[in-house]
Amino acid sequence: MSILRDAKRTLMPIYAGLKHVFLKPYTIKWPYENIPNLPDEGYRFDPKAGIGYPGSKGRHLLYMEKCTGCGSCDLTCQNIAEAITMTYGFDVVTVLDEKCYEYFKEFRPEIVEALDAILGSFSAEPSCIQYNSLSSFFWTPTDVKQIIKVDGRYEIKLNLEPIFDVRAVEVLYQKVYPGVKKLKVTGWELGKLEAATESASVELSKQDLTVSVLVRKIDMGYKQNRRSFFPSVDYGRCVMCGFCVDACPFQALEMTNEFELSALSRRELIYTPSMLAKRPEEFNITGVPPELNVIERARMVFRRLVW
Ligand code: SF4
Ligand code: SF4
Repeated sequence: MSILRDAKRTLMPIYAGLKHVFLKPYTIKWPYENIPNLPDEGYRFDPKAGIGYPGSKGRHLLYMEKCTGCGSCDLTCQNIAEAITMTYGFDVVTVLDEKCYEYFKEFRPEIVEALDAILGSFSAEPSCIQYNSLSSFFWTPTDVKQIIKVDGRYEIKLNLEPIFDVRAVEVLYQKVYPGVKKLKVTGWELGKLEAATESASVELSKQDLTVSVLVRKIDMGYKQNRRSFFPSVDYGRCVMCGFCVDACPFQALEMTNEFELSALSRRELIYTPSMLAKRPEEFNITGVPPELNVIERARMVFRRLVW
């Protein structure tokens, strides 16, 4: 009897273990396998009907053409996570007088070094024009339209995409100043910084040359939102509750099934309105990971075939 009991005690755990080889697993090898039952649709809310449509509560999708900049979403979030900040769209231009513009056309070193430094600050920003050299950037037929003559002065627009921030002076400090400060070593003087909510500027001078850098609010062409005032979301704070979606009276905000929002810095977790306006990419199975051994790879293929 004791032999039988010992055999049973030995075989039962083996059986229990082996049984699980043929059971449907409850875990998945994310991100290599798709998450089952994840709805394709994101969470939406219809304010007229007062109905919330079920769906994933991943990152937000902003319809800029519907958003009026009313700030209801921001107000709602203030009682929850303070993750939303209303931001304006800005652009940055360098302003040259006739003389500087002639120097600019001739690629005179003083102007090249000034513009190079200002553009250098921008080149790290994903939303801005990437340029390899000053000549290749400015003198292609499509880029010449970036230069506009206004009241006898020439405005050179430096960013094609709007830069979103709360105040113009923040854009000037964060996006322009780091490059501009480097010009001091080559003899450029930094003039007084002028700042209002909607615009900010700084003047640079060297000998008889003067170059101004101007940050100003732009109209992105949305009739319902002439101020270009849109929400930004900080995913380091957002708890994905969806109350901001419920609060939007114009159905301009939805949630999506994009949940892979990890980043290496807090700064990268702040999504600007133009980032929120991008539709999430389809969630794809990325294939069997190469680091898995033969048995695990075979098991993954088997799981996909059977379940
Ligand atoms: S989903 Fe995020 S942004 Fe919206 S109200 Fe909740 S915490 Fe705020
Ligand atoms: S997303 Fe909706 S609630 Fe938020 S500012 Fe735009 S219109 Fe207003």
